[in-house]
Amino acid sequence: MKTKIHVIAHTHWDYEWYFTSSESFIQLCYHVDEVIKALEDGVLDYYMLDGQMSIVEDYLEVHPDKQQTLQSLIAAGKLKVGPWYTQSDQMIIRGESLVRNLQLGIESGDALGGADRLGYIPDAFGQSIDMPKIFSQFAIDKAVFWRGLSSDQLNTREFYWQSEDGSNLLTYNIKDGYFVGVQLIEVDYAKPLLEQIKQNTTSSHIALPVGGDQRYVDFNLKERIAHYNEQLTDDHFIESNYDHLFAAMENEARTLPTVQGELLNAEVSKIHRSIYSSRYDHKYLNDKIERRLIFQIEPLMSLADQLGIPYKQALIDKIWKLTLRNHAHDSAGGCNSDKTNQAILQRFIEADQLSYSVVDYLTRKISESRKNVKNNQVTIFNTLPIIREQVITIALSLPVTSFSIYHGEQKLDYDIRNITKHSNAPIRKTIDPAPASYYYEIEIALPVKLQPLGYEVLDIVLEEDRLETVPASEKQEVTPNTIENEYYQVQVKNGSVHVLDKESNTLYPDFLLVEDAGDDGDNYDYSQPENDWKLQFKFDTASVSSNPGTWKSTLKLNGNFVVPKNQHEREQGTATALIPYTCTIGLEAHKQAVDIHLKINNQAMDHRMRLLINGGVNTEESIADTPFGTISRPVTDPNFKHWQEKGWKEEPTGIYPMLSFVQLHDQQKSVTAFTKGIKEYEIIGSKEKDIALTLFRAVGYLGKPDLKRRPGVASGNQFKYIETPDSQLLKSLTFKVSIRIGRTCHEACAFADYQKYAISIPYYQQQSLNQFTNTLKYFVMQPLPFQVPETYSLVDATNVKQVVFSSCKKARQSKGMILRFFNPTNQALEDGGELTCKENVRFWQFTTMEEKLDKSNQKSSQTIHLGSFKPKEVKTIYIEFK
Ligand SMILES: [Zn+2]
Repeated sequence: MKTKIHVIAHTHWDYEWYFTSSESFIQLCYHVDEVIKALEDGVLDYYMLDGQMSIVEDYLEVHPDKQQTLQSLIAAGKLKVGPWYTQSDQMIIRGESLVRNLQLGIESGDALGGADRLGYIPDAFGQSIDMPKIFSQFAIDKAVFWRGLSSDQLNTREFYWQSEDGSNLLTYNIKDGYFVGVQLIEVDYAKPLLEQIKQNTTSSHIALPVGGDQRYVDFNLKERIAHYNEQLTDDHFIESNYDHLFAAMENEARTLPTVQGELLNAEVSKIHRSIYSSRYDHKYLNDKIERRLIFQIEPLMSLADQLGIPYKQALIDKIWKLTLRNHAHDSAGGCNSDKTNQAILQRFIEADQLSYSVVDYLTRKISESRKNVKNNQVTIFNTLPIIREQVITIALSLPVTSFSIYHGEQKLDYDIRNITKHSNAPIRKTIDPAPASYYYEIEIALPVKLQPLGYEVLDIVLEEDRLETVPASEKQEVTPNTIENEYYQVQVKNGSVHVLDKESNTLYPDFLLVEDAGDDGDNYDYSQPENDWKLQFKFDTASVSSNPGTWKSTLKLNGNFVVPKNQHEREQGTATALIPYTCTIGLEAHKQAVDIHLKINNQAMDHRMRLLINGGVNTEESIADTPFGTISRPVTDPNFKHWQEKGWKEEPTGIYPMLSFVQLHDQQKSVTAFTKGIKEYEIIGSKEKDIALTLFRAVGYLGKPDLKRRPGVASGNQFKYIETPDSQLLKSLTFKVSIRIGRTCHEACAFADYQKYAISIPYYQQQSLNQFTNTLKYFVMQPLPFQVPETYSLVDATNVKQVVFSSCKKARQSKGMILRFFNPTNQALEDGGELTCKENVRFWQFTTMEEKLDKSNQKSSQTIHLGSFKPKEVKTIYIEFK
């Protein structure tokens, strides 16, 4: 077959890695200068700037005078930029983050002459099942990627990459890597390269990306192409770009195969299917910030906008950009040098402080601007568009410890969980505070029912202190070391945690275990050491205390795990490192879940700790959530047996990523583990299966060669051992897990349970006793020049059916609001239910993730019928209020 080889000049610009972004920024500045010169002088026809706008933004920050130049090169189609803001990871990053990444990338690319509408993923460690439908919603119908597709899935490079909703991308798999074309520059013979890149192609148009990590501009590209063409008669090399390649491919009358599902196999390249637990501390922070941005800040600012406090898009973008830089594939993976990881951590800290301060500011501003604001009232915010009926835990600052709580006319029962006494007098060394300066900080648990997307007020009526403020635990009849609610009884007996599922009368003995094992891996991957010593811990050395109540009950286990200090001790069979822990197990009334809060102080190196959840489920598949849906995965990878013979780059262990939950089902049982920050699981056990959640991995090198699970050269830098002592994580670590066991828990219900568990409920108490409930409480705040309603609710999506709420925010380019829902299952849904708007609607319409509006199909009803959903379909609604 006579072929045309499309030579595509590009650079792959890792935002940071074993170097920091500051270090590579200097090279970037000179690199882009070279790119501009090459394009302006006609030395190159086209150049691809790695599909990400963050580096263009960085360049323009110090070269504002080059804006016009870039704009004309981009508009002329010579310089290709976008559509991403950063080259994001897809496996442990939330769907809405991927959407923000593309929104910001496309917006800034379009402002600069036009973002490239190509789903370009040169280096991410695997492709999510949901990428085709995400790209499709941004009018992107072509994709190029490198890693993850194996020959048992498909043996050709060109195909349609499809999502279950029918979204389709014409896709080219650059199987030999984005750097394969460097041979054109550095090797004089055309034949071997030609043979390599022609393998498994079905088209007479072949991609040859010429570029590499932080690689300079190849000014001699045209000469090299001419040199290669001299050697060939049939085949022909041309300077090209992906637009031309795909246009040529589309002109060929061929039927291409279709591929669905995630692409996570290590045949053509490493995929790092255990990177999801590297630098757990970063994963935890990322999860917290993503949740806050998506489920609190954007909805809170949307409702504030309706109340007259304008939505600050640029402020939200600032926090998003800090976070999205940390989503670049290496950054998110944690496979970086220590100094780079420190820079990443710094960005997380900044994003964390900015984001919680937005919540603090807006909740206070709204609370203090209500019509009839009274002292001690607590304003509670529901940032989800569904009614929330659950137990919440809040802290009150009051002058007395006896009080009643009213929600409207209704008096609420509550548990006192904890009381501490404080003084608000100035601190002095020798003078005791005056008695009048004392107040109490009282932690209470109480049931609330909150209207959707809005706020409500609790009245606190003070009573004369009866000095009868015994904690709930002492009021109740207490069985030692046992707590229960209507669903479960949890008992700690001889150090074992037993859970009784009351509904099915099933006892789960040793429900929770902690596993400690060696880790000979690196910042990329877990790898079992040659001489491993695996330990399993119950909580048998723990002291147990309980704090039971009507609404919330907890058991607290304090103890130490004794583990080998390092790999040397593990080989010797000695264990001298003490890892102190506090494990709090909680139950709440009316909630079908056991909440686990584990805090440890890691004092050992070269090891992996996992939480084993003894579900005993008879199944061969697990279900985990993905950016916009769920995925079913086999417990044992079908390629596990023969990976070495097939020459795979890594052992396909059944270690998998998750965003928020993983679940197992059989005919009788269902176990779901929800997490806040844990992103990795493996299903273990022979017949009856259990869930192993990787808590963290402690390793000392960025990349190591010749691992048991990953033979061959080192990942990262192949020529140097780069020590990463910080990645031993010798510090305090917190793990939050909630486990639901029972009969069934279908996908939509799992997402709803997750949101109830993981999205906290912001509140603000009107009081002046305690000036330190948040950082800026000490300072006075100006109420709004106008009053806001006593209570508020904007949109009610309680009546959506079997679909998952995904986002509520202001539209980026229009004045209305965006709401997004998706069908998490593989089945079509006849009716996704409806939502009701509580403010007067001017019009609403369906739109896409890109939020483009057209005048057709606008409706003006107060009730919005979501209609039918295709399997896994995502629907976005635009609502403009009067
Ligand atoms: Zn990369």
